[in-house]
Amino acid sequence: MNKAKSKNERSPAKLKEVLKQKGHPSGKLPKGKEAHHIKPVAEGGKATKKNIRVVSESKHKTIHKNRQKRGKI
Ligand SMILES: [Zn+2]
Repeated sequence: MNKAKSKNERSPAKLKEVLKQKGHPSGKLPKGKEAHHIKPVAEGGKATKKNIRVVSESKHKTIHKNRQKRGKI
């Protein structure tokens, strides 16, 4: 289990910016949606338009479950 926390992991301002670029003018996630880092933060993934995917909560859980199986976060 990796519980390491970097300062970049939670950067609401950056995420807000990205969400705006992704067509969410309020900078907030739609209800039931979460922001997923395609390249994990732990591997140097950043909150950028390219690296952030807006997915539903359940889909997000599935993604991370599958990653855990592969030994990733
Ligand atoms: Zn995620």
